[in-house]
Amino acid sequence: MRNMRYLEDVATLILNKEACVGCSLCTVVCPHGVFEMMDNKAVIVDLDGCMECGACVNNCPVYAIKVTPGVG
Ligand code: SF4
Ligand code: SF4
Repeated sequence: MRNMRYLEDVATLILNKEACVGCSLCTVVCPHGVFEMMDNKAVIVDLDGCMECGACVNNCPVYAIKVTPGVG
């Protein structure tokens, strides 16, 4: 969602691609379309769109995503 953003380059979102098992849940639960699937792995396609809500973190089955709420 390119029009839903606040600060640039400060979101604390981190994705461990090695740990990702390709379930695609993060692409489903993220309200801002921050993730897309590529070659059966999640990729961050819009870091600045992240509002650090934690939905992806809470739904990732292998703890591949980290975010610190309230920073970015
Ligand atoms: S923390 Fe929220 S806004 Fe940021 S990537 Fe995860 S689900 Fe999307
Ligand atoms: S929820 Fe986790 S395991 Fe599933 S696609 Fe996203 S990063 Fe990968």
